[in-house]
Amino acid sequence: MPPFDVHGRVVTESVGKIGFVSLGCPKALVDSETILTRLRAEGYETSSSFAGADLVVVNTCGFIDAAVEESLDTIGEALAENGRVVVTGCLGARPREILERHPSVLSVTGPHAFDEVMSAVHQHLPRPHDPYMDLLPPQGIKLTPRHFAYLKISEGCNHRCTFCIIPSMRGDLVSRPIGDVLREAEKLVTAGVKELLVISQDTSAYGVDLRYAPDTWQGRTIKTRFYDLCKELGELDAWVRLHYVYPYPHVDDVLPLMAEGKVLPYLDIPFQHGSPSVLKRMRRPAHAENTLERIRRWRQICPDITLRSTFIVGFPGETEAEFQTLLDWMDEAQLDRVGCFQYSPVEGARANALEGAVPPEVMQDRWEQFMEKAAEISASRLAAKIGKRMRVLVDEIDPETGVAQARSASDAPEIDGQVLIEDARHLVPGSWADVEIVASDTYDLQGELLET
Ligand code: SF4
Repeated sequence: MPPFDVHGRVVTESVGKIGFVSLGCPKALVDSETILTRLRAEGYETSSSFAGADLVVVNTCGFIDAAVEESLDTIGEALAENGRVVVTGCLGARPREILERHPSVLSVTGPHAFDEVMSAVHQHLPRPHDPYMDLLPPQGIKLTPRHFAYLKISEGCNHRCTFCIIPSMRGDLVSRPIGDVLREAEKLVTAGVKELLVISQDTSAYGVDLRYAPDTWQGRTIKTRFYDLCKELGELDAWVRLHYVYPYPHVDDVLPLMAEGKVLPYLDIPFQHGSPSVLKRMRRPAHAENTLERIRRWRQICPDITLRSTFIVGFPGETEAEFQTLLDWMDEAQLDRVGCFQYSPVEGARANALEGAVPPEVMQDRWEQFMEKAAEISASRLAAKIGKRMRVLVDEIDPETGVAQARSASDAPEIDGQVLIEDARHLVPGSWADVEIVASDTYDLQGELLET
């Protein structure tokens, strides 16, 4: 099969299912080679014609008007003869030009968007199963979508919160050596993960059990310590989101990494209450810290930081005054994302022996008051984002409505809100998009795609 068609375009054809047209300069050609290599490595075949393919990929050029016209004409030909077309390449960086002429293309991505093209192909033409290759991916088996992954850095906990039985089930803190964690993180990113969600029972205590023992990573010696972990993860090409951090003074040290854009400006801190006396009865880590002062300092260092937390109302002995302290604390703290539970005794927890059980109707009433305040704060903080431009990570596209569910730096998967984008059929799960925020409600934002 000749590598060029009558127009001088490279057309990769063979016996198979994907038609591939590569237009433009050698850089685009190298991109095409990379995509074709990945397609072939996954067992896809290439087709000798648009009509004989199950799907067509067009790698476009957008350098001069003639190249734009040629790209748009080629997409039109592929749509007429095949109907299922994935568009990538330089012209893909201006999706509106493509979508205005050809609204039915399956997805549009810019140059070097290899993962996104593969993701679009997987979405519309599921990859053939290869029992040899598919046995175990290098990043291990993950239950999350391909573009984000949880990175567990330790197991167990050294604290003894009175409502919790985790330490009795999982034991004291056991941190993974930093080299192990970073190697896993690197493998995940190489496999296409774009967001690493750091989890543990107490992320800020990472390495305490190992006395911050040094370990090797990329030929260097690094301490197994919270700050060092954040710094090294920040060098990988992925979003890094920190969960389950406690408000200890040393957490302040990672705020500059957030302000520099190395680590996402996001902290998930289970404060659980705002009243010092309740926190003391709960025996919470860092209960003696002045958390409002700490939050103020974090916002000074990194004004864009998003703070997420969970709370418990109706803890044994919680008085009306203590609950009011919590509401006042919320007014001051202005947390962005908040969850709240009504206290319920866990078998084996020491809090069960505390006096002053809060009656269920009081607990329900406090929960409603708390959630109402949290919703007001959330709505006003989200409204302040209208007009801002931000990069989001696309999780899903509803095939019926064409609305994409995406997340910004402020939104952890599953637990936080979303950025909804209309007319986004051409996006693919796991791709980045740049949006301007045009509307908000209590928990979600609406964004409009920006030309890149
Ligand atoms: S910090 Fe407290 S609530 Fe969290 S796992 Fe440890 S003991 Fe349980």
